[in-house]
Amino acid sequence: MNTFASLNGKSAIVTGGSRGIGRAIVTRLRQHNVSVLFTYVQAREEAEALCAETGALAINADAADPENAAMLVTHAIETFGQIDILVLNAGITRDRVIWKLLEADFDQVMATNLKSAFYLIREVAPHFRERQSGKIVTVSSINGLRGKGGQVAYATSKGGLIALTKSVARELGPKNVQVNAVAPGFIETDMTRAASQSVRDIALAETALGRLGQPQHVADAVLFLVSDLADHITGQVLQVDGGQLT
Ligand code: NAD
Repeated sequence: MNTFASLNGKSAIVTGGSRGIGRAIVTRLRQHNVSVLFTYVQAREEAEALCAETGALAINADAADPENAAMLVTHAIETFGQIDILVLNAGITRDRVIWKLLEADFDQVMATNLKSAFYLIREVAPHFRERQSGKIVTVSSINGLRGKGGQVAYATSKGGLIALTKSVARELGPKNVQVNAVAPGFIETDMTRAASQSVRDIALAETALGRLGQPQHVADAVLFLVSDLADHITGQVLQVDGGQLT
């Protein structure tokens, strides 16, 4: 029996799909025959390679630009006929202690990590409400749950994303739309490659499993949440952190 058979033939939008966790999510969805339209901002070559490898479609669209949300939803509906799944994965960091944090950096993190989710969920909500079906997963962070020194903007955006997720779960629940978050711990991607050895060591020491996460660990949690195995789960935050925050 294919546990994820319900995904066969569905269609999804994934933001920030060209690399890292987004790339793993696109790949997992395509492995279960989900049609995928993913966004990217800079990495055209990586995006094209992923399309060639998986059969996903890519579009260059800044998640922080509100005009792109309507364009993306329209494009996905025209291409696939409907949207079943929305995964809000695009994210950036601008790590500074608060007394050195520039307002422009704070704003950019908010626009990319938080407002982008507001724009796209607002745009897709009428479609999901009309179809009385849909799954939304936001990619938050354990630092959105616990806060993190040196990551004021990032942690604030990820905490906001959790509140957004829980609020929208309430609003869309009556129309059979499930809205959940995943909260990864330290995952080995380009985003964390720049982290110092001491930051890595602390993260590793915090885990219960004694290892750092890989992108596919997060992709597998997303796969579960967008499948019918999670039909009775909404407004939840699923930590994918090897027990880093317990
Ligand atoms: P990454 O830097 O490797 O990838 C980020 C992705 O977001 C890229 O595909 C990039 O193109 C895209 N992106 C950035 N700005 C964008 C914009 N304005 N519009 C559209 N796309 C944009 O990082 P990652 O580690 O794969 O992170 C993916 C998500 O997981 C992020 O939201 C991140 O905050 C979250 N996360 C990562 C970790 C970790 O340890 N790596 C931990 C917790 C949460």
